[in-house]
Amino acid sequence: MKLKSKQPDLPVSIFSVMSRLAAGHKAINLSQGFPDFDADPALIALMEKNMRAGHNQYAPMPGVPALNETLALKYQKQHGASYHPLNEITITAGATEALYAAITAITFPGDEIIVFEPWYDAYLPMIRYSGGVPVTIPLSLPGFQIPWDEVERRISPRTRAILLNSPHNPSGAVLEQQDILRLKRLAQKHDFLIISDEVYEHIIFDGKKHLSMAAFPELAARSFVIGSFGKTFHATGWKVGYALAPQAMTAELRKIHQFITFSVHTPTQHAYAGYLADERHYLGLGAFYQKKRDHFARGLAASRFRLLPSRGTYFQLADYSAISDEPDTDFTRRLVEQHGLAAIPTSVFYRDGRSRGLIRFCFAKKEETLDKALEVLCRI
Ligand code: PMP
Ligand code: GLN
Repeated sequence: MKLKSKQPDLPVSIFSVMSRLAAGHKAINLSQGFPDFDADPALIALMEKNMRAGHNQYAPMPGVPALNETLALKYQKQHGASYHPLNEITITAGATEALYAAITAITFPGDEIIVFEPWYDAYLPMIRYSGGVPVTIPLSLPGFQIPWDEVERRISPRTRAILLNSPHNPSGAVLEQQDILRLKRLAQKHDFLIISDEVYEHIIFDGKKHLSMAAFPELAARSFVIGSFGKTFHATGWKVGYALAPQAMTAELRKIHQFITFSVHTPTQHAYAGYLADERHYLGLGAFYQKKRDHFARGLAASRFRLLPSRGTYFQLADYSAISDEPDTDFTRRLVEQHGLAAIPTSVFYRDGRSRGLIRFCFAKKEETLDKALEVLCRI
């Protein structure tokens, strides 16, 4: 039997490819985005406590109520937003599931979803599995800003939603007030939905404040706001995230969620409910990663890499054109094979797949790992 593929050209994710390559070469892995240090022992203790307390059966489909309630309070306090814990907040298996459920819930065949490039690699395949059409718009250089005039030109009667990601992976760009103003005007005029991937909400630098869709009632009314505890609490492997959305949108999202996973790992939800209640557990995250960003950038000042600004996320883009003119996929392969260091080529996040001479480093690493990486990178 010949199995017909729904997306025959879909490759294995670059994050799997590079991490596997890094492991094979025992390379320093600055490719896939995850910390090489552990989560807080207090969080791990909470997980163990909740397992021993017998929280080991299915959680309610929308989430463990204590976690939904803690999230509602957090968004109230931080963004003045009011989400009903039981009707407007859904706990998912990572932000990945929330994205998939949100996209699947709203996309009819032929619907257009606006996506900016470079993008996070999951977006396009998710849209296409629903028969949606990704409308890709390049972010403007040098700052990777949203070109709003072009967005307006590309809006059509089939535009169903716009997919935003701030702080932005891989560029580290963040939304500014003027973006919010343009978005409000456009959304009102054209009546599209918003899927807002905010997994790096707390990893934002230089005193900037994260502008969540949750903070603007006109935008929140048409948005899925998506977050991830994996990024915030150094536990990417626990795969717990969430989606916030008005009740009618949440109801549609849950129709998908209930048949992808139904519910998410119960003891983890209880542990997060306790841990998230103390805002000291996340308010210092920007400063924590800013120190790492600055340490890494200071070290690379002595190298031939040219760094682009990183205003948020734990990623740093670097231009290697002073070192080589080979395509970024060849350059990153050689970096692993010859120098024992893994990074991410950014061409895979563009529709035309053309190399821009830019690679992405993840600096969510112990200082000793960053120092080892700097030694290698400064020799190249
Ligand atoms: N969105 C972006 C922009 C990401 O970088 C990631 C990677 N963690 C995700 C979503 C997925 O998050 P999770 O691991 O919680 O599924
Ligand atoms: N978000 C992580 C990154 O950008 C990877 C997540 C994954 O491996 N799918 O590196």
